[in-house]
Formats: sequence, structure tokens, C-alpha cells
Amino acid sequence: MPRFVKITRITVTHFDYQIPGRAMAGRARLDMLYQPGSTVSSGGRGATGDHILTVETDAGVRAELPGTVDAATAEYLLGQNALERDTIWHDLKRMLRGRGNAPPGSVDIALWDIAGKLYDAPIYELLGGWRSKLPVYASTFHGDENGGLTRPEDYAEFALYCKEELGYQALKSHPWVDGPIEREVTTVLAMRRAVGDTMDLMLDPAGAYATFDDVLRVGRACDEARFFWLEDAFRGGGLSMFAHRKLRDFIKTPLLMGEHIRGLEAKADMIYAGAADYVRASAGADGGITGVMKLAALAEAHGLDVELHGGSLAHRHCMAAIRNTHYLESGGVHPKVPHTRAPIYAERKWLHELDSVDKHGCVDVPQGPGLGVPLDWSFINAHKTGETVYQ
Ligand SMILES: [Mg+2]
Repeated sequence: MPRFVKITRITVTHFDYQIPGRAMAGRARLDMLYQPGSTVSSGGRGATGDHILTVETDAGVRAELPGTVDAATAEYLLGQNALERDTIWHDLKRMLRGRGNAPPGSVDIALWDIAGKLYDAPIYELLGGWRSKLPVYASTFHGDENGGLTRPEDYAEFALYCKEELGYQALKSHPWVDGPIEREVTTVLAMRRAVGDTMDLMLDPAGAYATFDDVLRVGRACDEARFFWLEDAFRGGGLSMFAHRKLRDFIKTPLLMGEHIRGLEAKADMIYAGAADYVRASAGADGGITGVMKLAALAEAHGLDVELHGGSLAHRHCMAAIRNTHYLESGGVHPKVPHTRAPIYAERKWLHELDSVDKHGCVDVPQGPGLGVPLDWSFINAHKTGETVYQ
């Protein structure tokens, strides 16, 4: 008989931690940028707080990780076998059909944390991983008009600093939103001039550019500056297969796509449409570790590479076990905002801060059981604002 590890109790711990020096700008408060005197919750865009998810079982092991869960999902999970990850993955995917088309990532990551602790092994080992060091790219805030990343030379100097002083092998810039397109072109070229040929550079307008012509102008600059990829350039957030296929007729820089498209099947259609060279995957948004590994296999089957969106312990375990990938994302970082994360782990090396990398621009893969790094409950409890318990 398969082992049955029953989920017995689920707790969402709410806490509040404000990060100074940044703001969500623009009419829709979408774009994170530098703004002295302003703060944003560590919960991110539009969040009133941050959360820790705890999932307990009758086997005496519990998952603890950043994340949350809604009441309907929690009620479904109570009594389920925590080891039946793929069955739960499909049940929750169907529950969210038409609304997200992927299971909640935090739930799947919690189940992997439980499995690792039950088997006394780090998750990457369960996935067949082999690496212990992962190269990271510094992923900047958006451009601002506040004396942070305000001029092309600010981006160029920051890229050089990341390379020379911190050891980063790669940097991705998020540009201005609604700024003159000539400043974007100038910045792309200035960054390459500053760092030379030994640093990979990427550009992620995150849907900022207003017209096809804007995308073409910046895309041609990316060609000239030999950028590693151009990501989600079109207004609308990178949803049009046609537009990306069309863009390929004009520029040579590889396109990264899929960050805003949910569902394994939709990303398969994106690949078939010829719209992506690098395939985006996110444990948070694409169904956890199970979802990321499915997407890595999907990309692999088409001879493509998968790139993980954002830094997290879950992504470190996944990346340690994926051949067809290049860099882990540490975002967002900024020359004037040294602390951009809630310190939920005692050691900064696990937090994806600007200085969390070693001198080769790499981070470690956790070696403890499950996710492999204990939460700092003294910090979380000191900022706790409440909790929601399902049992
Ligand atoms: Mg992006």
C-alpha cells in the first residue's frame, strides 16, 4: 500500500514588513522603482501584508514557506495525502480553470517540502539535481526620475558595479515606463559599452513599450549590443504570439516569453507558434516545483531553454536539477536600495538581496531536508499581524 501522510492543519501567518526607498509607480501602481521616503510591503505589488504558509501532517513533518492559501483550497487539502503531489496538482488546476489555469504554487512547494523532510533529503536531490552553485542575474528596479536609475549612465554604472564589485555574470534591466524611447536605446548601448563583452545583458520592458515601432527600435539596439534576450516588450504584457513571431522577422535578439501566460498547454501553444526562444517558468505562478519541472521538460522537448522567474529557495532546487537553463533571477535590485527583502531567513545568502551572491555571481543550493533553510520565526513573530488556521 502507498504511504498515506495526511494533511491535518494549515496555517497562514500574516506579517507586515515595509521596505523603504521604493514605490509602485505609474497610474496603475505596477512598476517598482526608487523613491526616497516611500515604502512598499514585502508582500509586493498591491499587497497589504506578507504571509507564511505552514502545512502540518500526521507524520510529524510540516512545511513552512513564504506563501498563502485561500479557504477553498485549504478545505480541499485537509485530509489529502501530502505525497500525492501530481494528483493534487491536477485537482487544483481544475479548480482554478478559467481563473489561473495553474495550481497555487505555494501548495505544491509545501508538498515538496514535506516530502523532503519525510525522506530527509533536499528537494533538489529528489528531483535528480547535481549542482551546488547557481549563476544569478541582477534584475533591476524600473527606471525612475528620482536620482536612482534615472539616466542611461546610471544603468551602465550599476551594471559595471555588479560585474566588477559583486561578481555578477549577468544583469537584466527593467527600463522606464512612458519615457522617451531614445533614452531606452541609448541605455541599451551604454550598458554594453560599460561592461564589455564578458557580461550577459538582458532587457525586460515588462510590457512598457507603446508601439511596435518602439519595440523595433529598442530591439535593434539589443541586436547591436548583443543582448542575451529581450523579454515581454509589447504593451499588453507579452501575450500576442503573432506579434512576437512578427518581431522575429526584424530582430535577431532571442525573445523570452511566457511570464504572463498561465498553463502548460498555453505555453506549449506559445512554443508551437514560434513566439519564444526562452520559456518563462515560475514556481509561484505556474504550479509550484511540479509545474516548473513540467515546463522544463516541455522546453527540452522542443530544444529550448527554460528560465525561472524570480529568486526563491524553490527555484534554487529546481534549477539545480534542470540542464536547459542559464541564470536564476535576483529581482529587483537597485544601487540605492540595499535591502529589498523581508529577512525571513537568518542568513542573507538565502534572501536574493543584491549582495547575496559569491564572488563568481553564484548562490548556493540548500543542503538541508526539504526546502533546506529554516525560517527565522523570531523575525516573523516580531512582525506578525495575525493568522488564519484551517483544521
Ligand atoms: Mg519579466
